[in-house]
Amino acid sequence: MRYVDEPVSKSGADGAGGGGGVSPDLDVVIVGAGFAGVYALYKFRKLGLRARALEAGSGIGGTWFWNRYPGARCDVDSVEYSYSFSDALQMEWDWPERFSAQGDILRYINHVADRFDLRRDIQLNTRVQSATFDEPNGIWRVTTVDGQAYTARFCVMATGNLSLPRVPEFPGLDTFKGDWYHTGLWPDEPVDFTGRRVGVIGTGSSGIQVIPIIAKQASELFVFQRTANFTLPARNRALSGDELGQHKTRYGFWRAEAQNTPFGIAGHPAPTKNALDDTPEDRLARFEAKWKAGGSVSFLYAYKDLLTSKAANDTAAEFVRGKIRSTVKDPATAELLVPKDYPIGARRLCLDTGYYETFNLPTVTLVDAKSAPIVEITETGVKTTTGAYALDTLVFATGFDAITGALADIDIRGRDALSLKQKWAHGPRTYLGLMTAGFPNMFIVTGPGSPSVKANMVCAIEQHLNWIADCVAMLDARKSRMIEADAQAETRWVEHVNEVADATLYPLAESWYTGANVPGKPRVFMPYVGGYHRYRAICEEVVRDDYRGFVIAGVPAIAA
Ligand code: NAP
Repeated sequence: MRYVDEPVSKSGADGAGGGGGVSPDLDVVIVGAGFAGVYALYKFRKLGLRARALEAGSGIGGTWFWNRYPGARCDVDSVEYSYSFSDALQMEWDWPERFSAQGDILRYINHVADRFDLRRDIQLNTRVQSATFDEPNGIWRVTTVDGQAYTARFCVMATGNLSLPRVPEFPGLDTFKGDWYHTGLWPDEPVDFTGRRVGVIGTGSSGIQVIPIIAKQASELFVFQRTANFTLPARNRALSGDELGQHKTRYGFWRAEAQNTPFGIAGHPAPTKNALDDTPEDRLARFEAKWKAGGSVSFLYAYKDLLTSKAANDTAAEFVRGKIRSTVKDPATAELLVPKDYPIGARRLCLDTGYYETFNLPTVTLVDAKSAPIVEITETGVKTTTGAYALDTLVFATGFDAITGALADIDIRGRDALSLKQKWAHGPRTYLGLMTAGFPNMFIVTGPGSPSVKANMVCAIEQHLNWIADCVAMLDARKSRMIEADAQAETRWVEHVNEVADATLYPLAESWYTGANVPGKPRVFMPYVGGYHRYRAICEEVVRDDYRGFVIAGVPAIAA
């Protein structure tokens, strides 16, 4: 047990302390106004605190604001991928489709901001440049690229996991005479590919969604694939009023059920069997039923051990490989599309609508960018080690500096001017994904070391912000001015996150989960994959144990 017996300042907003002699502008500064930032604002307002969200975009919505490429849609059922905090909201909102399109999700979050009168505290077109902990005053000082400055007792990083798009450093891009786009920075106005020779680089979730749409318009489409990904049919469909109405009659039940599942998603009964406990015929029938039903959670829930046993996983992977081979008519193209060197589900399992079928079109060519890598972008197109492709338009579906990228993009300084980027030079270190030692009063929403991208993001965001808001309320009730992750608790948590990941098949794949997609980024498995339900229970237990593993100014901290 450790004591941190700092004097309690009375200079904060409500006497709960804001630091030495400075009265901060705000109680809470929130960086980002996506699903996390918007909910953060709602929660802190409810506590009666002065909160403000700073958002780089010209609109709210985060991921759903920036990723407006054709075909962008959610891969979690929309009745689940939506806020649960207001029963009135979930009862009044009608999702038009099972997996909503980007535009519908953006409309939804804008509706939420209006309905709860949140806009007046959201500042758009405001990119945060630095966040510095002013130790003598116990406050955060946040500056923006256009020179504004804010002070606040707490800083909440709601910066998102997939918000720093990456264009690989191909030489010559600046010479390209055509148009080019990144899926994660898509323009507001529609892009017309009609009659154009288009190249798409990247075949992750974004590429897999955009490729079938572009193929319908382009005169020729070249898909540059480095690593083949597994993708399953989404089976998206319109949601009828009846179906939605029935779901709404039991909304409370579904939301409660989601809390007790590994992915934070209800409606998929937990599997009871291991894959090899079934006969090959029964296994095939089970996979076939899942394939027909659509969705990735349902498929990965076919058996208990698909993400922990290689032999079990092989049965699911082989099933999908068979589907690719029977869908794609040209055997050489099919073979190139078949993922061979990692377990299914160890990289993000994609959902598609007509992806493999697209390669049967005479205008679509799959280019193997693994055996013949892209070496250069020229004035007229793309050059690989073995060929040159003339293009009018290039689409980069090349992903993000994920999970830590948006945080590293801000100059964040904690105690003794410690830089977060430096602290995380060998990989992110957090306690529960919520805080990092040396950075008092800075919370990270769905940060590394929490389930984040391995759960329904909206569910994970609500759980984190409920925890953070309760924590701030607790500090104010105790008149404590500071909370910080204990360094030893953090070390133990990082070890636990690694142990949990090592007991699964996830580390067997190169992916953005491990930072492998960004040259030079440390290889660390970043999300907590022990299951959302277990993680939630741990967070609740930590609170019951009086914030075990946190140091609270003026009160004893209990060892984790
Ligand atoms: P991604 O999964 O990281 O895919 C990026 C693609 O670009 C990969 O195919 C990658 O190949 C390729 N690439 C990168 N650098 C390259 C290079 N130098 N040469 C050739 N190819 C290169 O990114 P994403 O597709 O944008 O998806 C990121 C995540 O966002 C998803 O996993 C998902 O969590 C989320 N997302 C979700 C949805 C949805 O809900 N439906 C839609 C879009 C995105 P390698 O694999 O070989 O690195």
